[in-house]
Amino acid sequence: MSQNPFQMAQAQFDRVADLLNLPQDARDLLRVPMREYHFSIPVRMDDGSIKVFRGFRVLHNDSRGPGKGGIRFHPEETIDTVRALATWMTWKCAVANLPLGGAKGGVICDPRKLSEREQEGICRGWIRQVARNVGNVQDVPAPDVMTNGQHMVWMLDEYETIHGHKEPGFITGKPVGIGGSKARTEATGYGVVYTLREALRTQLNKTLKDVTVAVQGFGNVAQYTVQMLNTLGCTVKAVSCFDSADKCAYTYKRESGVLFDELKSITDKFGTVDKEKAAELGYERLDGNAWMSLPVDVLIPAALDRAITEDNCDKVSETVKMIVEGANGPTTPGAEAKLLERGVIIVPDFLANSGGVTCSYFEQVQCNMNYFWEREEVLEKLEKSMVSAANAVFDMAKERSVSLRDAAYMISIDRVVKACRMRGWIR
Ligand code: NAD
Repeated sequence: MSQNPFQMAQAQFDRVADLLNLPQDARDLLRVPMREYHFSIPVRMDDGSIKVFRGFRVLHNDSRGPGKGGIRFHPEETIDTVRALATWMTWKCAVANLPLGGAKGGVICDPRKLSEREQEGICRGWIRQVARNVGNVQDVPAPDVMTNGQHMVWMLDEYETIHGHKEPGFITGKPVGIGGSKARTEATGYGVVYTLREALRTQLNKTLKDVTVAVQGFGNVAQYTVQMLNTLGCTVKAVSCFDSADKCAYTYKRESGVLFDELKSITDKFGTVDKEKAAELGYERLDGNAWMSLPVDVLIPAALDRAITEDNCDKVSETVKMIVEGANGPTTPGAEAKLLERGVIIVPDFLANSGGVTCSYFEQVQCNMNYFWEREEVLEKLEKSMVSAANAVFDMAKERSVSLRDAAYMISIDRVVKACRMRGWIR
């Protein structure tokens, strides 16, 4: 039977709850979100009609601090997807050791089919419905699928108008100059590399200069992963991306290595590389899945979920010793079991890509002080935080002889359980 995302999140929790021998009250509390808001957002459309959109905000757990999580605009949004993502945010914030809980929001809509003015109406309407339930010390939203900095600024403006004061820390992902943090754009990709560097050191006794890498994707996460790998002297043999004109993915490979500046200059805002210009620069164009079969040491899937499945994981080259998940959910549980059996080390998504939420937390902190750090200061704090989170997971995996994913879950669930216990929510 196929599971919906929330059933998946619950099954993952149940498994670790067993490993940690959690009592029933902790399971009852953490299997489901603590609060949910479901609401209607009436918006006057450009043709004068009124359309009613459905919106959600789910707060899974706030024992460690205010909720944190993005708002998705998606035509197929469901409450169960939002519940699952809110649950995963609790574990991600906890493994990154941020003083934040987990939350997520959504609106069933397709922004690609809405004018700017109609999108603004949805953003302001969303805030009007939850203005008393979100906030700097309650629950802090951010951009996510099909929402961006402009949406966040409309939401901020509505929120501040309702409350009658400035409170830029109430929402993150804002543009620099209007409450945004420097280095937020690069943070997730750079965090992936800091995590990889620590994983190589502790698990394989290697450095970034000793290994070769292939990356799936060339969007936000993948680009800044490649940039930092270039900076730290690691050879990236290939990247892949989706080509919207040809409606298929391609892998771009160059034996001497992929260079960020060069490839970025021929990539559009959707992360699609120009194939003619890539050929001129000496990149070989292979099929979309070729990135995972190349004879490299490390794979970084940083494009989409379910990239490595039970059906295609046999194509992963024998040379691959480590997979670092830049995307959310790129390895299916079936594929993970087979790869672990082969001895491949898998660094889980909610650890490897937690640089994004870590920098969002820094944005909130800077807004609250109304004092903004230089890029170097943000990156220094990001690196320190990621290194510490990663090493806690590696130590736990060693101590308990479990996979890195199980270790990361054990750490995060244990931290949340401890906070709930101290608050008297469970025994
Ligand atoms: P993006 O939209 O900027 O880029 C996606 C890239 O994937 C593009 O280059 C696209 O061409 C490529 N792609 C799509 N389908 C493909 C396919 N079949 N084969 C190869 N490439 C394909 O997205 P992003 O922000 O880089 O996010 C990527 C992943 O990372 C998502 O899973 C996202 O949820 C996750 N993530 C992102 C952040 C962040 O801060 N941006 C933080 C945490 C997790």
